[in-house]
Amino acid sequence: MREQFGAFTASELYCPKCRKSQPVRERLLLVLPSGELHEYLCVGCGESLGERTVTNPPQPAKPLKPRRPEQPRRLLR
Ligand SMILES: [Zn+2]
Repeated sequence: MREQFGAFTASELYCPKCRKSQPVRERLLLVLPSGELHEYLCVGCGESLGERTVTNPPQPAKPLKPRRPEQPRRLLR
């Protein structure tokens, strides 16, 4: 299942501080194991207007793992 966030490429967002629609700047906020968190900042006042998560690798449908008690694996003794 792939989510299309392509439609949500915000170039302008409403800024409550500026009280108008402002162009935004995208900034990489966080790198998560599942993807990257980007933040949209108002270029006028620097207010954070939104964020979005970019999941980088299109995840292949993983088969569910069979349920199995997890055992610590002994390596060399
Ligand atoms: Zn603003």
